[in-house]
Amino acid sequence: TKPYQTNTDFVHRSPFFVYTTQIYARLNARFDSLATHSLAYRLYNLKQLGYLIKDNEKRIQAAVYTDLGKGGFDVSSGDLWPILNEIDLAVRRVKGWMKDESRIWDAMFSFKFMRPRIKKQPKGIISAWNFPWQLTLCPLIGAIAAGCPAVIKVSEHAPSSSALIAELLPRYLDPEGYAVVLGAAEESTKLLEKSWGHILYTGSGNVGKIVAAAAAKTLTPTTLELGGKSPVVVSSCANMKIAARRMFTIKQMAAGQICIAPDYVLVVKDKVNEFIDACKETVDTLFPPSPSPWSFLHTPQSSSMRNTGDFDRMISYIDRAEQQGKLVHRGEINKDNRRIGISLVKMNPNAEGESGGLVEDEVFGPVMAIIPVDDIDAAIRYINARPHPLALYVCASKRSVFKKVIDQTWSGSATWNDFAFATYARNLPFGGVGASGWGSYHGKDGFDTFTHHKSVLEIPYIFEPLMALRYPPLTNLRKIL
Ligand code: NAD
Repeated sequence: TKPYQTNTDFVHRSPFFVYTTQIYARLNARFDSLATHSLAYRLYNLKQLGYLIKDNEKRIQAAVYTDLGKGGFDVSSGDLWPILNEIDLAVRRVKGWMKDESRIWDAMFSFKFMRPRIKKQPKGIISAWNFPWQLTLCPLIGAIAAGCPAVIKVSEHAPSSSALIAELLPRYLDPEGYAVVLGAAEESTKLLEKSWGHILYTGSGNVGKIVAAAAAKTLTPTTLELGGKSPVVVSSCANMKIAARRMFTIKQMAAGQICIAPDYVLVVKDKVNEFIDACKETVDTLFPPSPSPWSFLHTPQSSSMRNTGDFDRMISYIDRAEQQGKLVHRGEINKDNRRIGISLVKMNPNAEGESGGLVEDEVFGPVMAIIPVDDIDAAIRYINARPHPLALYVCASKRSVFKKVIDQTWSGSATWNDFAFATYARNLPFGGVGASGWGSYHGKDGFDTFTHHKSVLEIPYIFEPLMALRYPPLTNLRKIL
């Protein structure tokens, strides 16, 4: 393996940065020419995006390795294949998505002759900001399919990936229709001053509030893909070993820095010891520490914390829990490459204010709080007393337990007995609710997000005898009524 480089702690700026006013004017001209609206233009750019990924897979893997220390297979399976999957769906379906949608069936009798329908029209320029590949390019697929030009503000937290997107995108896609902006808060702020057709933002809730407030000034519709604490509910009927294996397989991916990673576990209290034992056994087996030759932190499957601030935050959770006697498993720590093994903390349900942020804030890392609760009703009350999560997971052998939890809680998505699968289901909308986000995308829902659904009626002059009933003095209408 190549020596790992730490280069994520600075804001990357490059000659690719182009001032927003020029970009705005250029993309507006492209939109006004109506070129982006045609099916041929949409299909061309969707396919080109696919070729961009296929032609440059090795360079992309190297860029993500430099940014996040992630192995090549993980980059392809977690970041790139979902993009190709979505492109495939959009190329097959976009012609159908674009068609007008008739609303004739539920119309009142007289309206049936006016061809009531919904016309799908591109919203205009889209601005998106995101994370490496998947979170940047999947929203872009929706925008291209909808016939919208787009500005992509890539994240400063993955500078090598962002620079590669800025280099490749104008070479593969219409450079007059799609622009990449590098930079951080300053560049985002400049972009937000413009009036866009739609804004799709991915990131933290705190910045989400800034984006929503700025968009309100120009009344720009906004999709917010935020995060939050995604809970796991473990019922007494769960298979503890399978639950632990499936949960930590996902929790360890990208070192827990996934918006839908399981954040904390609510376990029915008579099973808490059995569950903790299953967790410890799973973590030791799947992610063995040094000096094992399979030591997980040295394999390409493990990832680094994205910066020293987040690394130090994890260490402070672990140290504080240890001082309080609440640490049940300490993960291996490698400060040089900012890697941390899974750590387990047992918390009280009312630990707010004592945990140094572990139970209050989104963890976004490999530390897992396990919280005993009296029963499933107590778990539901705990979840409902907090902001709505992006994802919710239920481990139970009985489907009725899953149904009870999802009927009585609100979350962006919910999965029975597995984790993070919602993001791979290309035909299901992906998004949050309340504090975890507004709106959604992926597949047809991405197309709909960036499409204006215009209500259309046609009332030709041949309808005059009917329309004339409305003219004063309404004598004929009164006769009918
Ligand atoms: P972040 O909020 O720090 O940054 C996101 C983007 O906002 C960056 O491009 C940054 O340049 C920009 N930004 C930062 N400050 C800004 C400001 N003052 N004004 C305008 N723009 C500004 O997010 P992050 O740390 O990169 O991501 C972590 C968070 O994102 C977590 O909460 C996670 O759950 C969430 N997330 C959500 C999804 C999803 O699809 N719902 C996906 C990934 C991450």
